Amino acid sequence: MNKPLLALALAASLPCGARAAKLRVVATFPDLADIARDVGATHVRVVGIARGTEDPHQVVMKPSFVPKLHAADAVVFNGLTLEHSFLPGLLEAAANPNMRPDTFRTCLGQGCIDCSKGVPIRQKPADIARSQGELHPMGNPHYDVDPENGLVVAKNIAEGLSAIDPAHAADYERNEKAFAARLRAKIAQWKKELAPLKGVKAVSFHEDVAYLGHFTGLDFIDTVEFKPGVPATPAHWVKLIEEMKAQNVKLIVHEQQYSSDQARALARQTGARIATIGVMGDAFPGTAHYIDFVQHNIDAILAAAGMSPRS
Ligand SMILES: [Zn+2]
Repeated sequence: MNKPLLALALAASLPCGARAAKLRVVATFPDLADIARDVGATHVRVVGIARGTEDPHQVVMKPSFVPKLHAADAVVFNGLTLEHSFLPGLLEAAANPNMRPDTFRTCLGQGCIDCSKGVPIRQKPADIARSQGELHPMGNPHYDVDPENGLVVAKNIAEGLSAIDPAHAADYERNEKAFAARLRAKIAQWKKELAPLKGVKAVSFHEDVAYLGHFTGLDFIDTVEFKPGVPATPAHWVKLIEEMKAQNVKLIVHEQQYSSDQARALARQTGARIATIGVMGDAFPGTAHYIDFVQHNIDAILAAAGMSPRS
């Protein structure tokens, strides 16, 4: 591209006054992309980076997103360093002055919409300086599986889009309120269905269930992983089985990106049943929408616990 053309292309990508075109939004995860589409509606064009079946810690860094981020008006992300394997690198290459990469905050600048803002963070290390070697130094980032946090995400997206595009702030607020009303109605229904799960013991593969435990009432006693990001050692595997037998744990919450062979082996050795869940939207057919993603996980858990209201 010659210089005048490049300058024109860059000028077209910069936010300036009244805009006729749609805001260009890049969202890291499918569930965030879905909520951004709901809140932004006709004023945004949203593209998502990760596929719902990927491990959110190891999303493939797609070079095709460099020009998309360069031209983007906003990037909607989970935050709490969950995207550290791919987003800061892409932002660095994209060189968009409104979204600069940052080690802890992931993205700094007007175009950065951090969906974790205002989420009550669980498992936050007491000393961030000493916790840099940890997988999640800013606390547990897997908050989107708790639908109460879906409300926070929508609010953050509405506020972020309004700051970038104040002309349509009233629309973003109205769309956010409509989404929140739909989600709140589902939350009330889910809470009734989940009541029998309170205190039921379970294990998961990764510590991505702290917020899910909070919402469902499940008591997660351990993980298949030895520690976050580190697969089970033989000694940990033996200890986990002993622990599950001793505490009569009959539920394995299996995040779909982890080995289903390992889930089945654990089920065989403990007599527990498996609930396979997604930790991002669109991990299963029919779960591209945030509410369907949460519904899928709740249905899977209730079915495996033998408490399905629809069985
Ligand atoms: Zn994690």
